[in-house]
Amino acid sequence: MGKDMVKRNTPQTEEILFQSLDFIPIPILLSESHINQSSGKIKRIHCFMNRAFIEQIGYTITDIPDIDAWFNTVYPDAVVRQAMIDGWEAEVKRSLAAGIKTAEMQARIRCGNGEFRWFVITAQISTDNLSDLHVVTMRDIHDLQTLIEENTRLSYTDMLTGLANRREAEKVLTQLIIPAHQTDAKVSLLMCDVDFFKTINDTYGHLCGDEVLVQIATTLEKFTHQASCIARWGGEEFLIILRHSSLDIAYQLAEYIRCEIASTSFHYQEHQLNLTVSLGCVSVQHNESVRSALYRVDKALYRAKLEGRNRVMIG
Ligand code: GH3
Ligand code: MG
Ligand code: MG
Repeated sequence: MGKDMVKRNTPQTEEILFQSLDFIPIPILLSESHINQSSGKIKRIHCFMNRAFIEQIGYTITDIPDIDAWFNTVYPDAVVRQAMIDGWEAEVKRSLAAGIKTAEMQARIRCGNGEFRWFVITAQISTDNLSDLHVVTMRDIHDLQTLIEENTRLSYTDMLTGLANRREAEKVLTQLIIPAHQTDAKVSLLMCDVDFFKTINDTYGHLCGDEVLVQIATTLEKFTHQASCIARWGGEEFLIILRHSSLDIAYQLAEYIRCEIASTSFHYQEHQLNLTVSLGCVSVQHNESVRSALYRVDKALYRAKLEGRNRVMIG
């Protein structure tokens, strides 16, 4: 059947084929390989774009006459462009090694209207000499990709404060504590709990409590840039994970946070609120499990509460 196609492949059949492609609602681009006589390099010259390509991607042959113009136009950022060129090279190699005649990549490209959208691009890498034409198809996965990214973000974020949530903190801890067995990289933990927070809710209402939690989160973020993770661990409890921090450094930071919060005025409507926090502080021991480190930091925090609050206790 392939041989028949070669025989029948006249300009007229090509014309009919191109016209048919205009009825397919998926962007399609056809290119031909040209060998540059002086450099000997193969260049892909674009020779046809179907209607869906022009409408959805927003370029014509005049805008992107060849593959170089394509990369320059759809990846305006030079670093991203190079990463995509390298990525394609690797994909083509992988396909060739596996005997697959197409290579595929997900890419976020700049469309003709200036909007960046995600596509799956499938490129034919071998033509079997039936025709010189290489087919590239593009499937718009932008809405799906955006949904996946948003869901991923939500899965590790605390909705009220925007900090990491407990799940994310546990993940970070698990990743940090296991390599610490081999490298002896010091990991320290601070568990910070607002003192008498229930009184704030009871006096000014739950919305005020929420607003105070947001302001505390902002204060913590401001003073703990070096943290690997600042998470809302529970209701009014925050966990700060510090990497390459000795117990001494962690304790100093905890004291700093405690003083900062004690001297900050928090605001809700016309109310000005002063509050304090108690902190537990531990350094993760050699070969210690995540569970054990969390247990110790929680116990240290409990002791800080028992000793009168507004203080840091080392566990
Ligand atoms: P302590 O000094 O012993 O920590 O006293 P506390 O009042 O801070 O602690 P307690 O555990 O008795 O109360 C914590 C309160 O935090 C109770 C709960 O209603 C409130 N809380 C938990 N999550 C939220 C939240 O998301 N928003 C608000 N507004 N309140 C919350
Ligand atoms: Mg509390
Ligand atoms: Mg608490």
